[in-house]
Amino acid sequence: MALHMSSLFLRTLREDPADAEVPSHRLLVRAGYIRRVSPGVYTWLPLGLRVLRNVERIVREEMNAIGAQELLFPALLPKEPFEATGRWTEYGDNIFRLQDRKGADHLLGPTHEEMFTQTVKDLYSSYKDLPLSIYQIQTKYRDEARPRAGVLRGREFVMKDSYSFDVDEAGLDKSYQLHRDAYVRIFDRLGFHYVIVQAMAGAMGGSKSEEFLATAEVGEDTYVHCTSCGFAANVEAVRVPAPDPVGWDGVPAAHAEDTPDTPTIETLVAHLNERFPRDDRAWEAGDTLKNVLVTLVHPDGTREPLAIGLPGDREVDEKRLGAQVEPAEVEAFTEADFAANPALVKGYIGPGALGSEGSTGIRYLLDPRVAEGTRWVTGADAPGQHVIDLVAGRDFTADGTIEAAEVRFGDPCPNCDHVLEGARGIEMGHVFQLGTKYAEALDLKVLDQNGKLVTVVMGSYGVGVSRAVACVVEGNYDESGIIWPRELSPADVHIVAAGKDEALFVKAEEIARELEVQGLSVLVDDRKGVSPGVKFKDSELIGVPTILVIGRGLAEGKVEIKDRRSGERREVAVDDVVAALT
Ligand code: ATP
Ligand code: MG
Ligand code: MG
Ligand code: MG
Repeated sequence: MALHMSSLFLRTLREDPADAEVPSHRLLVRAGYIRRVSPGVYTWLPLGLRVLRNVERIVREEMNAIGAQELLFPALLPKEPFEATGRWTEYGDNIFRLQDRKGADHLLGPTHEEMFTQTVKDLYSSYKDLPLSIYQIQTKYRDEARPRAGVLRGREFVMKDSYSFDVDEAGLDKSYQLHRDAYVRIFDRLGFHYVIVQAMAGAMGGSKSEEFLATAEVGEDTYVHCTSCGFAANVEAVRVPAPDPVGWDGVPAAHAEDTPDTPTIETLVAHLNERFPRDDRAWEAGDTLKNVLVTLVHPDGTREPLAIGLPGDREVDEKRLGAQVEPAEVEAFTEADFAANPALVKGYIGPGALGSEGSTGIRYLLDPRVAEGTRWVTGADAPGQHVIDLVAGRDFTADGTIEAAEVRFGDPCPNCDHVLEGARGIEMGHVFQLGTKYAEALDLKVLDQNGKLVTVVMGSYGVGVSRAVACVVEGNYDESGIIWPRELSPADVHIVAAGKDEALFVKAEEIARELEVQGLSVLVDDRKGVSPGVKFKDSELIGVPTILVIGRGLAEGKVEIKDRRSGERREVAVDDVVAALT
């Protein structure tokens, strides 16, 4: 049955919602796809649900095509399996925890490695059962520090997660490749531009891992890429433990009051020159020093790029660091405080230290654990635009680790030495070789061909299904509204009955029925007492790719077909319209 604007549970809004920072959020709310319930928690209205289901359909088709089997786990999970893998603690504040009436701990699943592993263990025991790929499309819960941009970063969101089970690494490589290929097909069909980058393994553990990032300025991920050989990596590509914070002269921050000199920029520069002379020239104060990138060359030749930041302005710090930084600390990072009261300064330098335009903190001194023979060389001097915008919670975490970048803008490409460029993206999918981490923790073993017990080798693969809806909009809109790619649109054709004459409405219904017989889905604007102008505006906002206007021309047997994306209009004879649209 065609959808009818006269009865559709929908109100389009003329005004942008006050909390909308990015186009997709603004447009999805205004066009009546989603409605906010609380930060990061949204209701899918009828049109939105249709789009969400379309994304699910594409994902499902491509997962089924590689032989993965769909199942469905609960979201409400017991604590024990997560304790067995350490993630009950590791997740910290990022998961929703709750207790039942008997006081037993539960959580709302943020991802389901534990549950899948456990269930395979329950049911399977032989290599003959493998390989196996199973998946679900399910609601996940994460108490994100900064829920943002509507459904782009929700606290409740829909994810497709699959898991592969193989008897050995070679099997895992195959399962991984199958998923990776399926993801390429999924994201091609979703209709946005993306890049595949090397990724860090994060809280999942394991080794090989790649992300599918939709290229978008509003993205929270930063990646580097080489225009010469195609190398691309998320700047979070390695994760290393943060050193204990040390004061400006290497003294632990707790003793910063004992520092002999006032750490003005000049003394800092003098200090750097003395302790860490650069190969080619001395450290300089001012803009050159701000956000300088240096590379730490370890005795074994491994290179570790670092950024050095100077105190920045408070507003920038707060915006960047958000909830993760105590106000007192932010204050300590302002230029004035730095000059006036060295004891406030709790800076340290660590691998992947913070640095950004205006800078986000003082990370300027040495990790005390740096080995003998370590050498500092100049990286790119990178004031302002070359320094990467780092985000607390992503680049460094509450559990005291810094997720450091292996490579930075301006660094030579690890493959070909060409200079790396940087850009931003939205993480749409993530493929991981987990290895045996979860199978070991939960004791998932099978008998191999020789009757020997071996630990199962796993992979895990996620797609942000609800995030994809927003992401598609980020890549497909103009000043009038959304422009859906056909596969995702809530309807194939939006028929506008533009006028008062009853014959227009009758014809609209007739064409709608005929189009439906041909397998198209139709949205009919059959509202009476609503002006054509308002109807046109709504049709552009809603973003169905083909708009069919039935108006004054009908008297002469003509209707108008408008292409939402190009804006191109053409008149066709009313009798030819079904043929023209199918
Ligand atoms: P991000 O880096 O954006 O926080 P993630 O690396 O934590 O994502 P994964 O654990 O890899 O996410 O989850 C798989 C997929 O789920 C992601 O690639 C992303 O598309 C989606 N996703 C993750 N967190 C959210 C969220 N808060 N809201 C919507 N989708 C999300
Ligand atoms: Mg995350
Ligand atoms: Mg990520
Ligand atoms: Mg990820």
